[in-house]
Amino acid sequence: MIILAVNAGSSSLKFQVLKMPDETLVASGVCERIGLDDSNFTLKYDGQKKTFENPFPTHKEAVDFLLKALVDEAILPSLDVIKGVGHRVVHGGEAFKDSVAIDQAVKVAIDDVSDLAPLHNPANLMGIEAFEKALPGVPQVAVFDTAFHQTMPKEAYMYATPYEWYEKYRVRKYGFHGTSHKYVSQRTAEILGTPLESTKTIVLHIGNGASLCAVDGGKSIDTSMGFTPLAGISMGTRSGDIDPAIIEYIAMKENRSIQSVLADLNKRSGYLGLSDVSSDSRDLWAASDKGNEKAHLAILKQAKMIVDYIGAYVLAMNGVDAIVFTAGIGENAPETRALVAKRLGFLGTEIDGKKNQVRGEEAIISKDGASVKLMVVPTNEEVMIARDTLRLIG
Ligand code: ADP
Repeated sequence: MIILAVNAGSSSLKFQVLKMPDETLVASGVCERIGLDDSNFTLKYDGQKKTFENPFPTHKEAVDFLLKALVDEAILPSLDVIKGVGHRVVHGGEAFKDSVAIDQAVKVAIDDVSDLAPLHNPANLMGIEAFEKALPGVPQVAVFDTAFHQTMPKEAYMYATPYEWYEKYRVRKYGFHGTSHKYVSQRTAEILGTPLESTKTIVLHIGNGASLCAVDGGKSIDTSMGFTPLAGISMGTRSGDIDPAIIEYIAMKENRSIQSVLADLNKRSGYLGLSDVSSDSRDLWAASDKGNEKAHLAILKQAKMIVDYIGAYVLAMNGVDAIVFTAGIGENAPETRALVAKRLGFLGTEIDGKKNQVRGEEAIISKDGASVKLMVVPTNEEVMIARDTLRLIG
């Protein structure tokens, strides 16, 4: 059977067409610039890539075009083979501890937490409604970035702020990238051949956005992002953790609003802010190799923050079996992995310089006999979405 895994953004719609249960990728693509000029649609299948220029005023036209293209290009014999559509939904608040089959009540609940993810949840809902219209009767499933972290104990997810902020305004740590952390931690146990229930993993999802997760026996017990994806380690353009008093201090010094200072923390900080070079790790390494000290500092700062979290998570789990790199940088940047690993010697692990050269492939990259394994496991959120969809449609 065919399942679609969909990630609807405010002006884009990414998708994968997967044959389940064997998890074969049949086609993938993206519709970009929905509602804007020059909108286009890219479809990849059978080693080919086709781009269509077409106006897409809303997500509905994008979904209709996608479904027609799947049949016109003979990728699917008919739309009847599509048995489910799984949607990435960024925020599930406290309402969703797992993925869920979508009905009217679920849509209302997703809308209810839209104030916690104003850029994402409304766009995710647009995607859901477009598929409801285009494929009436085909079950749809919501897979939340936050759900995997709902197992965190209260002392991990509560901030030490007035309790009423939590009761009135739902202020707490939610965590993000949950679908990735879940996939990677499950895959890690499979690769190691150890039962998930007794495997302790620290997942380092390091891309443009980055978060770490302590996964004890298959359950998230802590994660570095917080109430929003601004918290945790330094990222491409985000600061990660800072003293919150800095926000008011800069607002006063520069006579600016708190929103404008926060925009700096989201868009002009992290790699970009410290280096003044780029938010992209490849540019940063190139500059650092040429002797740019700020670029080197931006790289070192992130590595230190990663290792600080690893230290905390090892103690929180009372041990660790594997520390696993994933996402754009984690999967592709041996230099970043080596820098982090260099600071982990106390854990009884050392990186193998040769094995660490791997890019985008599953591998154990620590030296033979290391008590804590260092690994690379490419993330696959779409497969996780398709698995959950299959499970929930029965
Ligand atoms: P996002 O959070 O936007 O999904 P990604 O997971 O795609 O981010 O990661 C983007 C980051 O991955 C960029 O900093 C980019 O430099 C880095 N990256 C991608 N490919 C490589 C590569 N071959 N070598 C080093 N870094 C890479």
